[in-house]
Parts: sequence; C-alpha cells; structure tokens
Amino acid sequence: AKQNGRCSFEFFNTSLERIAQYQLDLENKLRHAIGNNELTVFYQPQVSTTDMSISRMEALVRWYPQQGEAISPADFIPVAERSGLIDSVGEVVLRKVCAQIITWLNMGVKDFCVSVNLSAQQFSDVTLVEKISQCLTEHQISGKYLEFEITESMLLSDLEKATGVLNQLRELNISVAIDDFGTGYSSLKYLQKLPLDIIKIDRSFILELEQNPNEQSIVNAIISLAHSLNLRIVAEGVENPNVVSYLQDRHCEYIQGFYFYKPLDKQKMTDLLISGEKL
Ligand code: C2E
Ligand code: CA
Ligand code: CA
Ligand code: CA
Repeated sequence: AKQNGRCSFEFFNTSLERIAQYQLDLENKLRHAIGNNELTVFYQPQVSTTDMSISRMEALVRWYPQQGEAISPADFIPVAERSGLIDSVGEVVLRKVCAQIITWLNMGVKDFCVSVNLSAQQFSDVTLVEKISQCLTEHQISGKYLEFEITESMLLSDLEKATGVLNQLRELNISVAIDDFGTGYSSLKYLQKLPLDIIKIDRSFILELEQNPNEQSIVNAIISLAHSLNLRIVAEGVENPNVVSYLQDRHCEYIQGFYFYKPLDKQKMTDLLISGEKL
C-alpha cells in the first residue's frame, strides 16, 4: 500500500507539473503572439427578430499562431487573466475594433454597434475608462458604436465601484450588456439600479429550450423581467429554427447563434454589412 501511495503521488505530481508547464508555454507563446500580431478579431452578428436586420455584433478574439493550429479563447483568455497579459490582449482587441469601426463608417455603414468582452481584471483596472476614452479620442469615434459585455460577478464584487464605472461609460455613450445572464450569482437588485442596456441569456438556458419546460420557464421569466426594466435581450447560442420562433414569439430582440451565423472574419462581416442583406 505504501508503494502504491508513493506511485500515485508521483503520478499526481508529474501531471500537475505537466499542466503547469503547459500553462507556462502557453503564456510565453501568448506574449510572443501579442507582439507578433497573431491576434485578430472575428465578429458574430446578432440578428434582430423584428426585421432580421443586422446592426449589432459581438467581437471575439482569435489567435492564429504562425505555426500550428488556432488556439481557442476559452483556453488562452484564462491564461491571459492569470498572467496579467489580459490587459494587452484587451487593448489589442479594442484597438482593432475601433479601427474596424472607422473602416465601416468610411464605407457608409450606419447605426451599428460592436460589443466587446471585458474580463474581470480589466473591469477592476482603475484606469479602464480613461484607456477606453483615450482610444475613442485617438480614433475620433463616438462611444455609441461600442458596447461592453461584463458578467454579474464583476458587478457584485464591488457594486459601488462598478456603478461608478458604468456611469462613466454611459457618459461616453457606450452601452453595457450583462453576459451569460443567469449563470452567476444573480442579484435582481442591481438590475434596477445600474445603467444597463442589454441582457444576454446564456446558451445553457437555450440548449434544450424546445423540449425542456424548465428552461422555457426561466427564459420566459428573464425576458419579462428584462422588458419590465426596459432592457433589451440577446439570446446566445441559438442553433435551431424552432428556438428562433420561440424567442421571436416572446419578443426577444436579438438572436446570436450558429443557426444564423458563426463568428465571421472582418471581410465576411464587412460583406454582410455592405450588402445590407436580410435573411
Ligand atoms: P462568450 O463571451 O460567452 O462568447 C460566446 C461564445 O459562444 C463564443 O465562443 C461564440 O463563438 C460561441 N457561440 C456563439 N453562438 C454559438 C452557438 O450557436 N453554438 C455554440 N456552440 N457556440 C456559440 P468563443 O469565440 O470561442 O469565445 C469563448 C469565450 O472566450 C467567450 O465566451 C469569452 O468569455 C471569451 N472571449 C472571447 N473573446 C474575448 C475577448 O476579446 N476578450 C475577453 N476578455 N474574452 C473573450
Ligand atoms: Ca460575451
Ligand atoms: Ca456569453
Ligand atoms: Ca462566457
């Protein structure tokens, strides 16, 4: 038994080392990737359920290393957060989005909005609003073309400070969405108090929406809650047409999901905006 114990300890130790080594490698690669311009931004359309038009989209970072396969943000964003690289990643994304907004404005695209994810660390950075404001000034664009996605837990860790940040964003004309709504420690109090614009219903409530009455109850409740507070709703992760009609019937304003579009590279997104094509 003693022998066994030692063996499994060593095994455990080795696999921990392996994980740590993997993280460290990824961190170093990411640092290199940022300097090497390997990060790019894709855009996933949010389709309006009233007229099927596309004027909103979520910016999603992509990493295509010069060698090897694409690395998912689900893998490298957590590494970026732990290593402090998230600041640089966030800055790269925001700059690319602002540059893209200018390109679209110059092409004559009107009334659109790009939603950008903020991580907890960015949100707690006291210079965040200053950085955003500076980026807008440098690019000479109005904040009305930008939205930020934050999660409930970021708001609740320091509600007073969060309120201050959201008020400053509102002054810049930037809108704010609550991402992954319903998956965190929800507090209904803050919804009514804070300057928010959009609630994004998490994909986990959408997955079995068709067959699952419990999911239906939750989604119906979120929609009526949001509407009673004058917030609009984006449903995430919609992959099937019956779910589209379900949400349409309940006046969910926007749908983001593979059923309509996967995240598109900037050229495909541009084509879509320019053609003004309706589905
Ligand atoms: P998220 O913010 O919840 O983004 C939505 C994710 O769901 C995206 O994954 C998107 O591609 C995926 N998705 C959209 N529609 C569907 C669908 O119909 N079916 C399925 N299965 N998936 C769908 P992605 O791009 O891999 O991003 C993963 C996560 O990485 C994001 O989750 C977000 O938390 C983070 N992330 C992505 N880009 C950024 C960024 O620029 N900054 C920060 N801080 N985080 C980011
Ligand atoms: Ca998001
Ligand atoms: Ca989400
Ligand atoms: Ca998420």
